[in-house]
Amino acid sequence: KSYDIAGLKARLGGIRTEENPALVRQKSRDFYWYSPTLKRQLDAVSGDIVAFPASEAEVLAILAACHALAIPVTPRGAGTGNYGQAMPLDGGLVLDLSGLDKVLEIVPGRVRAQAGALIADIDAACAASGQELRLHPSTYRTASIGGFVAGGSGGVGSISWGGLRDLGNIVSLRIATMEATPRILELTGEEVQTVSHAYGTNGIILEVEMPLAPAYGWTEAIIGFEDFGEAAAYANALGEQDAILKKLVSVIAAPVPQSYFLRHRKYLPDGLHIVLVMLAPVARAAFESFTKRWNGRTLYRSDLVGPEEAKGLPPLYELAWNHTTLRALRVDPAITYLQTLYPFPNQLSLAEQVHARLGDEAPAHLEFVRFDGKITSFGLPLIRFTSEARLEEIVALHEDLGIPVFNPHRYTLEEGGMKQTDAAQLAFKREADPQGLLNPGKMIAWAHPDFDLGAGRTYLFLGLERHA
Ligand code: FAD
Repeated sequence: KSYDIAGLKARLGGIRTEENPALVRQKSRDFYWYSPTLKRQLDAVSGDIVAFPASEAEVLAILAACHALAIPVTPRGAGTGNYGQAMPLDGGLVLDLSGLDKVLEIVPGRVRAQAGALIADIDAACAASGQELRLHPSTYRTASIGGFVAGGSGGVGSISWGGLRDLGNIVSLRIATMEATPRILELTGEEVQTVSHAYGTNGIILEVEMPLAPAYGWTEAIIGFEDFGEAAAYANALGEQDAILKKLVSVIAAPVPQSYFLRHRKYLPDGLHIVLVMLAPVARAAFESFTKRWNGRTLYRSDLVGPEEAKGLPPLYELAWNHTTLRALRVDPAITYLQTLYPFPNQLSLAEQVHARLGDEAPAHLEFVRFDGKITSFGLPLIRFTSEARLEEIVALHEDLGIPVFNPHRYTLEEGGMKQTDAAQLAFKREADPQGLLNPGKMIAWAHPDFDLGAGRTYLFLGLERHA
């Protein structure tokens, strides 16, 4: 498709834009290449122009100009998403929000920041008040808060606080609509669910207000087990210990840690399955006693190594969540992954069953979380990729066992399985983006209203009608 880019630039006046094809291409990609399927499908995708607004007024001017010329707009935070979310399938303008990076207000219990602010920078600003964000992705140091809300799901902190899908984990959003004269909407309560994890298809997030938790200065621990089932059962039981405050409980099966966690290698004896834990310093003695009950071997504790030794190590959360996959990919480019949920109360037996079936083709990686109030586990198993057909078989094998898959090898919201589009979502999209110019191609139900939304399927972010 071709667009009137010269006409657009004339309307944008002094707003900074970039048309150099190499730079536009770079700003048109994310971490889609984690998936061999998406790599094949999306490699050629590129926008026509990137705009770098420096203020809310500039965002509104860009949206109005693109609306007038029917040019698609694909928002971009830091471009660390995994499913091609930030990739402009129909070309057009990439709206780089990294210039909207101010932390606006910090009060007891909450912070308000512009959408492009980096998550780690928000926490740094909150530190003086002894507070920090409840949740962050493992891309803490690189991702924007707007991108997390629009494209992420949870991560570090989810063991105590659940995920972005849970009411209360996003306080409010200030968004701009895509209309002739864009409107500003302030969304709170249930309304934030329209825009959360919607890939920017129904509004540009300008500001985000998030709840805060006490900042403890987390102690990191790695605990080893000879038996994978024991490691998983320990992690589950640790999750249930409400008085031991923690921010991360991950289980990673051998030989993944030994093969791929290169900078921690000397702490990781061959054959041991490991549990990664971030815990509040006040809970150290309780944690030690708890670990002893389970005969867990303490392989590493951040408070027990000297500062010199600690200096060369990445933070523990950069071994967890999707960083586990990244570390594996760096050593073995043939690795890919899946995202699954082991539903409560059968999480331990389901994880064991599927890994017994798949063996070393799919080494286990469990992330324990609080899910609808219960401790259970997501799976981010690594997959030793052979073919797209085999990958589909592995997905089907999970589903046959009753393990929902949030498929990271799909770029649409619905097929990815995290976001359910229903009539209420569509009605909001018609209101906020009547011409369908925001991140086109990502919401199937918009382009194909007859698409079977798979009533029986498990979605992470449920449709809005369930409460109607
Ligand atoms: P981008 O990738 O730029 O954008 C994400 C989506 O949001 C896109 O659809 C984009 O169009 C849209 N968007 C961006 N900004 C706005 C805005 N202001 N308004 C409207 N729409 C917008 N995710 C997790 O949830 N948990 C994890 O633990 C996690 N770990 C990861 C580890 C690695 C190594 C990698 C590569 C990714 C991981 N992710 C994880 C995915 C991703 O890093 C996060 O979701 C991150 O928060 C995305 O932020 P971003 O600024 O990079 O967003």
